[in-house]
Amino acid sequence: MSTLQEFLKANETHASTFSKGHLPMPPGKQVAVLTCMDARLDPARFLGLEEGDAHVIRNAGGRASEDAIRSLVISQQLLGTNTVVVIHHTDCGMLTFSNADLHTKLKKELNADAEHIDFLPFKDLEQSVRDDVAAIKNSPLIPKSVEVSGYIYDVKSGRLLPVT
Ligand code: ZN
Repeated sequence: MSTLQEFLKANETHASTFSKGHLPMPPGKQVAVLTCMDARLDPARFLGLEEGDAHVIRNAGGRASEDAIRSLVISQQLLGTNTVVVIHHTDCGMLTFSNADLHTKLKKELNADAEHIDFLPFKDLEQSVRDDVAAIKNSPLIPKSVEVSGYIYDVKSGRLLPVT
């Protein structure tokens, strides 16, 4: 069975007992989580979230990119969230390359010029969390009343560690 066929089979099972079709659009816990797309992270599980509880914004690294800020603005202004939790994690792929590495690879493999793109890799995990918390707090598009905190998720222990 292909992965896509497996998806569709799993979805049949899911829909057969689904009972959460009545939930409102705004997140019940008024919180947005910004985290990495890493396949080992399951934020719903490690934060105890149910459907309808939170916005979970994911990208490579869980970075406060322009597009992450776009989602946070919509989350806050239109859907009532007032708290942001930034979660990066140990053994992140973003620690393993530089912009120059990826620019070179794209040139070689696709003959594409990506010199203008910052892929937002980082060398210091704690600092990347601090940088993204600061970027969100300092954005003119984010109200000062929004609470922003940062954590590192340990992929070995499953534990969240606060970054201050
Ligand atoms: Zn990652």
